[in-house]
Amino acid sequence: MIERSLATEVQFLKGVGPKNAKGLNKLGIFTVEDILFHVPRRYEDRRHLPPIAQVQPGQWVTVKGRLALVDARPTRGGMVILKAIVRDGTGSISLTWFNQPWIKRQLEGYKGEIIAYGQVKENQRQYEISSPEWEILAEDDDPDEFARIVPVYPSTEGLQQKVLRRGARAAVEGYLHLAVDPLPASLLRSESLPELKWALRQIHMPEGEKSRLEARRRLVFDEFLYLQLSLAMKRAETQQELGISFPIKLLKSGSAQVRRDMPEPRKALQAVQPLNPTDSHLFAEDAAYKRDQEPLWEQIGDMLPFDLTGAQKRVIEEIFSDMEAPHPMNRLVQGDVGSGKTAVAACAMLAAVRSGYQAALMAPTEILAEQHSVNLRRLFEPLGIEVELLVGKLSAKEKKKATERAQLGLAHVAVGTHALIQEGVRFANLGLVVVDEQHRFGVLQRKALRDKGLGNPDVLVMTATPIPRTLTMTVYGDLELSVIDELPPGRKPVKTHWKQPSERGSVLEAVRALVEQGRQAYFVCPMVSESEKMLAQAAEDLHYRLVNGEFSDLRIGLLHGQMKAREKEVVMEQFRRHELDVLVSTTVIEVGVDVSNASVMVIEDANRFGLSQLHQLRGRVGRGEFQSFCVLVAEARSEDARQRMEIMTATNDGFKIAEEDLRLRGPGELAGTKQHGNLDLKIADLVQDGRMLEVARQAAIKIIEADPELKRPEHALMLEKVILQRSDQAVITVS
Ligand code: ADP
Ligand code: MG
Repeated sequence: MIERSLATEVQFLKGVGPKNAKGLNKLGIFTVEDILFHVPRRYEDRRHLPPIAQVQPGQWVTVKGRLALVDARPTRGGMVILKAIVRDGTGSISLTWFNQPWIKRQLEGYKGEIIAYGQVKENQRQYEISSPEWEILAEDDDPDEFARIVPVYPSTEGLQQKVLRRGARAAVEGYLHLAVDPLPASLLRSESLPELKWALRQIHMPEGEKSRLEARRRLVFDEFLYLQLSLAMKRAETQQELGISFPIKLLKSGSAQVRRDMPEPRKALQAVQPLNPTDSHLFAEDAAYKRDQEPLWEQIGDMLPFDLTGAQKRVIEEIFSDMEAPHPMNRLVQGDVGSGKTAVAACAMLAAVRSGYQAALMAPTEILAEQHSVNLRRLFEPLGIEVELLVGKLSAKEKKKATERAQLGLAHVAVGTHALIQEGVRFANLGLVVVDEQHRFGVLQRKALRDKGLGNPDVLVMTATPIPRTLTMTVYGDLELSVIDELPPGRKPVKTHWKQPSERGSVLEAVRALVEQGRQAYFVCPMVSESEKMLAQAAEDLHYRLVNGEFSDLRIGLLHGQMKAREKEVVMEQFRRHELDVLVSTTVIEVGVDVSNASVMVIEDANRFGLSQLHQLRGRVGRGEFQSFCVLVAEARSEDARQRMEIMTATNDGFKIAEEDLRLRGPGELAGTKQHGNLDLKIADLVQDGRMLEVARQAAIKIIEADPELKRPEHALMLEKVILQRSDQAVITVS
């Protein structure tokens, strides 16, 4: 007899055995503990199984009956349809499956009872359930098993629900008493949560809906709590790391000068003494009052051709306070397109340069890097701050010169793509790295920076993709967050219209009218496929139609991802100079094209784009003084598509749109989360459980404040869970 523990192999559970254990292993279930935490996907209330005669089309039902006929036949399309008729005393219903030969093997020759769940449809006067979930009712099955709320578990091909159910039941009945609750009783009390043992029993064998929900609440809390604890610990650790303390408050007005006397970043780290924190916070109100008289703020005022918005000032202060602190900054700045992130980044770079360090800005593409360098030069050159552009298209000689200037500290600001780091450009004294539009890139790159001997600079990540709060608390939870939630004054919100394809004629006329007033227009081609080649084809088609049709008298350019970098630049430059009236393009214009005279964008087949992407595209217009328009051309027949078009016409608020996108598509699809795999939540759901996430986060922050390393005995079990969590995260990070 083996000694029971939660680590006991799952094969030893009553009714499982070595053969079934293999199937469970495929799901990642190896131990009794694993199966206890393998939570049902949904439940079927089989306390009332309707007689087959009573089921109605449209209903989701569970039916039970004898298998009367099994028949497989090929279709013309090369599929195999498997059909089974199930009869009870009152009537019959057919079950159908497509291309699943293993079901045929299981059902053929079987004459006993079967149970099936799915949605009833009417097909040639016969009721049918297509692709039902099902199982065989064997002689030795406990009939009571079927007259209760039955859990349905996530499973895998060939592994029967029955095995999962038996296993879970045996684990609950034989082992659950061994489970120890990792959460201290005081926490359960303060959050009004049930005990773990109770919750696990109820999640597998619920007494009713209410207790099931209560049990789920507890398990969701746990899942979020361990995640939030690990994030809070990670943030706390960053606070322990040695970084640069920029002497922002002590700056005098003066000229740019990189401190070349200390080219070793490690020395630089120690060279500037951290400020005594009480100096800066004791008279906080005074400090705010005096802000405009501080030399750095004075310089900012001189540098920018406009007054900063309140939101920009707030975010800059958040950044400065990170920069002053002696640990490395890890901050994400979110701001809708046009909210003025570049100006904020410029202020941070100014602070770094005035403190004697260099700054680097990394853009996702060379075109964007170039645009940034143009804008930054305009701001920085009058101040004597040298900006160097470092991109692939430079000649070998130019590149050599540029890298030398960076290495010697003659260039104060370097602008490029992320190749800046990867190609090993050296800096005299790199203090700040600004990463534009690369979401997690900046954080992941921190290690690369250190490995390349670039020290531990402050990192500022900027994104125009509004990220729903649930994601900033999870996927981005290791970053500090600033939001620029205000647009510069005088911006006219873009007016968005939704038009049917049949109305294209009037759309073209309206565009023409704007062009005749001197404006420019974008046409964005449908998202025909993921393939760049197909997209280019679609753009070429539309270009051809406009040039040879309605717009034959206008100047029309074409831009797509298959063009050479040089060709793209030429077209963009022509559009910028207003040598083109219309630009037909794929989504390559999504980031960074900035032409304030362009006041209308027509998006073809708009329902093929995600909401966040539509919002990004739309951000290319409305960048100047003119009233701008966005026209979504879409048929949008489905309810879902209609809703999406309506959201776009109703709001310009990127955060609202991102929340809707999350709700409609789930977190996996959202921009930025794809880059590093999904957050692997087993029980919780980011859309549904947003409130619980907030609760768990607050709880985690409190716990870590009181016990930063979870060293107290009552936190020992939580620490174990957190360590597991963190090893999972490491996997996410490198993938
Ligand atoms: P983002 O990068 O957030 O899309 P930008 O920094 O490119 O936005 O700013 C968009 C435009 O608004 C630029 O032309 C910029 O000069 C201008 N701008 C930025 N901040 C302000 C401000 N506070 N007042 C007026 N114009 C501003
Ligand atoms: Mg920008």
